[in-house]
Amino acid sequence: MLRTIRNYYFYSGIEKDAYNDIKKDAYVSNFEVWKILHFLMAAAFGVMCVISLFNTLVKPNRPLYLAGFLYSVFAIYLFFKLKKDSLVGQLLIYLSMSFLFLIGGFISQNSPTNNAVTFIVFLLVMPMFMIDKPFFMTIELCAAAAVFLIWMHGVKPYDVWRLDLYNVTSYTIIGCFLNVIANSIRIREFVLTRKIKTQKDTDEMTGLKNKGSLTREINAFLTGGNDKGIMFILDVDRFKSINDTYGHDVGDHVIIQLGRLLEGRFIHAHEIAGRFGGDEFIVFIKDTDDPDTAREIASDIVANVSKSVTLPDKAKTVNISIGIALYHGHEKNYSELFKKADTALYQAKADPQNRYYIYE
Ligand code: GH3
Ligand code: MG
Repeated sequence: MLRTIRNYYFYSGIEKDAYNDIKKDAYVSNFEVWKILHFLMAAAFGVMCVISLFNTLVKPNRPLYLAGFLYSVFAIYLFFKLKKDSLVGQLLIYLSMSFLFLIGGFISQNSPTNNAVTFIVFLLVMPMFMIDKPFFMTIELCAAAAVFLIWMHGVKPYDVWRLDLYNVTSYTIIGCFLNVIANSIRIREFVLTRKIKTQKDTDEMTGLKNKGSLTREINAFLTGGNDKGIMFILDVDRFKSINDTYGHDVGDHVIIQLGRLLEGRFIHAHEIAGRFGGDEFIVFIKDTDDPDTAREIASDIVANVSKSVTLPDKAKTVNISIGIALYHGHEKNYSELFKKADTALYQAKADPQNRYYIYE
């Protein structure tokens, strides 16, 4: 129970790790939303400025609307300057909220016999557009409400102020609740989107990248103006007979072991490893086209597989063959390079002396 409350209050209804995982997505989303809101703010304050020229009721607030307009324009400029997932961007949003509350306060000050309508509208609306720990929004709302009430105490007649006290207090609480609800709905949406995206790109059995994800990532590299890379296609030798001899489960286990081995071996940002399908895996190394490096990596994988991928019959080893294609910046897409590596794989399979081959 306490844990659930804690998670709602500090992590928008999900576990801490999951929250930290998608925090950046939430920041980017806040940034986009508030960028648009600032355009609306600039437009609204601008219109109010114009109205205040004709309407005597809102005339005393003209300097406030002008300040709101100028602030919004300056903030829009900052929104174009700042990085979407930056902490400064998030702080700017909190600053804008404080600024709006301040305007709400001044408007109230200018008509002390009226209730705090503008301020209360801000209390209700703003929490719906900010995804962050509800804890922070609670601080923001409570601080704004407290400052407002203390400020108005000296400005408004006591009975108007007393009504403000009831209203502002209850709407602050409602604002905090709205924030918790809006947060948890949107955070869950982020989590789900992430999950779907990961599932779409992941090979279920090994947890490695799947064919679609591999193709996309390597294609992006090849078409991105890079001119060096090495593609390896790995294929288990006589995998059918492993299935036939020991059963499909053992075959599956061989694939899983191979996946683990590749996952542990190719961990750097310039290395891509994935399962292409069946007993075929792909490794791609960026920014090198050195044949000696290719040979070194290939012989290392071959040695590691026969050493650490095991069968129920410990005397038997699992062997793989590797086809290698060096990318010097010529192939225009994934399939051109893949064809070359596949031809090399075919040569490696045909030659029992060599477990790997580089396409010539
Ligand atoms: P080669 O030495 O020429 O590679 O022969 P091979 O027997 O390994 O032939 P190939 O690579 O064409 O065989 C792939 C086989 O892998 C065919 C299919 O029955 C089996 N297979 C594909 N996916 C899976 C899987 O997920 N699990 C298991 N256990 N077997 C699979
Ligand atoms: Mg095979």
